Amino acid sequence: MLDARTELRYLKGVGPRRADSLRESGLETVEDLLYVLPFRWEDRRAFRRVADLAAGDPDAALDVRVVRSRLIRTRRPGFTIFEAILADASGSVRSIWYNQPYLERVFREGRRAVVFGRPSLDRYGRDVVLENPDYETLDDDDAEGIHTGRIVPVYRKLAGLSSRVQRNLIWRALGSVGGPLAETVPAPAASRHRLLERLEALREVHFPPPDASLVDLDRRATPAQRVLAFEEIFLLQLALAVRRRGIREESRGIAYEVPDALRTRLASLLPFRLTGAQRRVLREIGADLRAPHPMHRLLQGDVGSGKTIVAILTLLVAVENGYQAALMAPTEILADQHYRSLSRLLDLKGAGYRRAFLAGSVSGAARRRTLEGLAGGGIDIVVGTHALFEEGVRFRRLGLVVVDEQHRFGVLQRAALAGKGCRPDVLVMTATPIPRSLALTLYGDLDLSVIDEMPPGRTPVRTVVRGEADRGRVYERMRREIEGGRQAYVVVPLVEETERSDLKAATAFAARLRGEVFPDRAVGLLHGRMKGEEKDAVMRAFAAGRIDVLVATTVVEVGVDVANATVMVVEHAERFGLSQLHQLRGRVGRGPGASHCVLMVGDGGTGSEARERLAVMAETSDGFRIAERDLEIRGPGAVFGTQQHGLSDLQFLSAVLRDPSLLEAAREEARALVAGKGGADRARRLLGSLRPGWRRRLSLAGIG
Ligand code: ADP
Ligand code: MG
Repeated sequence: MLDARTELRYLKGVGPRRADSLRESGLETVEDLLYVLPFRWEDRRAFRRVADLAAGDPDAALDVRVVRSRLIRTRRPGFTIFEAILADASGSVRSIWYNQPYLERVFREGRRAVVFGRPSLDRYGRDVVLENPDYETLDDDDAEGIHTGRIVPVYRKLAGLSSRVQRNLIWRALGSVGGPLAETVPAPAASRHRLLERLEALREVHFPPPDASLVDLDRRATPAQRVLAFEEIFLLQLALAVRRRGIREESRGIAYEVPDALRTRLASLLPFRLTGAQRRVLREIGADLRAPHPMHRLLQGDVGSGKTIVAILTLLVAVENGYQAALMAPTEILADQHYRSLSRLLDLKGAGYRRAFLAGSVSGAARRRTLEGLAGGGIDIVVGTHALFEEGVRFRRLGLVVVDEQHRFGVLQRAALAGKGCRPDVLVMTATPIPRSLALTLYGDLDLSVIDEMPPGRTPVRTVVRGEADRGRVYERMRREIEGGRQAYVVVPLVEETERSDLKAATAFAARLRGEVFPDRAVGLLHGRMKGEEKDAVMRAFAAGRIDVLVATTVVEVGVDVANATVMVVEHAERFGLSQLHQLRGRVGRGPGASHCVLMVGDGGTGSEARERLAVMAETSDGFRIAERDLEIRGPGAVFGTQQHGLSDLQFLSAVLRDPSLLEAAREEARALVAGKGGADRARRLLGSLRPGWRRRLSLAGIG
């Protein structure tokens, strides 16, 4: 018998070498290994008979031996076909794999294998063939009942180990761990939610009982999977709850005063009336500002919903209370724009706040002056990029920080920034509409405010999906807008910021527009490789109307505000996620005139599928609905970026998104545990006793 905390090298089948490479993959103990979960399951309860296979049947599992095989080298250079004749007692079937010449060594004559795939007709339309089926070779001494005759788990390759080897190890580990595992979800909570003991749950997830539903397994919705999902969310929420409690109760922040006179005066700075939603979130923020603990709030609102003004008013409250305030944006262009919004507003009424701008491009005497002003207290408000929080930047009395476009900042940066002041209040703004369930998962330590109403007078952007054949008409429409005094964006995708060829494509595209399509108009180019000042110059020219058509890579995604631009054309729209497209579309429709968004889709294979996906954009302008669809299609990792959230480690995120009640329940339990007497200590002890793999995940997420 082994203990779950036993090091893996003591598990039979793991020698010192394997133990090393498993450790490199983050697995140290038997328990760590048990939490390597299958990514799919294969139904091998009953194998199909080869003789019964018919083209068009669903995926079939076959238990076969290799009769013979050969590698065919075709005339196309580098293109190979590997062919194996596979037989069971009923007959034989041909199976082929493309470009996998190494299979020669795998499918040796006489070898036993399980293959899994969809039977089709060969290219002569005569015989049934399996093309690129999944396969697994078995040794005759592989214990029956593990790899066959059941629903079988399939694992991603890990530490150089095949799925079959992992299955063997995990089977052995499950068999050799004695009693129940140490408690993670406390017993009362587990029984309230009728959760299986977790070793039992793990056993059923790896080796499901014979009556398990494959559909439920794939949806991560079996009772055993719900146990693990609950556990995962519970521990994450527990860590967040501990952190939140630390912020709210154990650290003293600034209790600002927000008298009515101040509110009236600040409101009078505005050239418009605040929307109801803006007023509501300002009340929520106001309550945080008055409270003695530091604010830690996420402000969510669709592109154009008016977050900036809310941020500026919040900054001014801090300044009126005698503190310094900082507004940080992810790019210099955006920081500059915020700085100008701020300046416009303040200059309007001669409000007399002392302000500065700080970014990588600010150097020499200007930089020195700003640093002195921040350290000496001569500057009230500073707007900038992450340069604000580099070494060497000191504040005299930093009281409030607003971070724009949260999804570009990691949790770790949030922590670094909070360390700069005397526990400043932090307001994080994001235009990425995050479904509530996900927001709670990711930002469980933040309070949430949502602006769910647009300023009045916006006309919805008319959105269409177009193909290559329509290009002429698209350009005509652009020309009409430009002749009417409007401006247009054309966004071209960069697959990778580093790929020169993409950049060349963007440059060439701009050259063609300039030379052939709009020779009589000013066409500008903006891309990520340009220096800060160059970008700024182009952006300024566009904002001033000196550029009619701005060809840009995705740098325009983050918040530029040019009300006179009424056309957004996105090239290769199929390469963007829906949420990104929504952000891009938000660049137009900012003024009184009608605006257009044209999503250009390449013709060919993926064209029609892409059109279907993009149709959502034409149907709705609701960022939350779009984000939900995007999450369904691409998954959270792709939508939000994985590293910064440790999201890739959340195995059950999709289950959570589908069933938010599970998340709510786990969150309630976590908060209740921390809230009780001595709860924070108990929670800390529990978190501290987690297996190493878990502790690492939580600390990666910045909440250990
Ligand atoms: P966000 O930052 O949420 O994308 P902004 O704060 O940039 O949105 O606001 C978009 C535009 O709407 C700006 O031009 C801003 O001046 C304007 N705006 C904001 N609030 C209002 C309001 N209550 N009434 C009218 N216009 C508004
Ligand atoms: Mg904005």
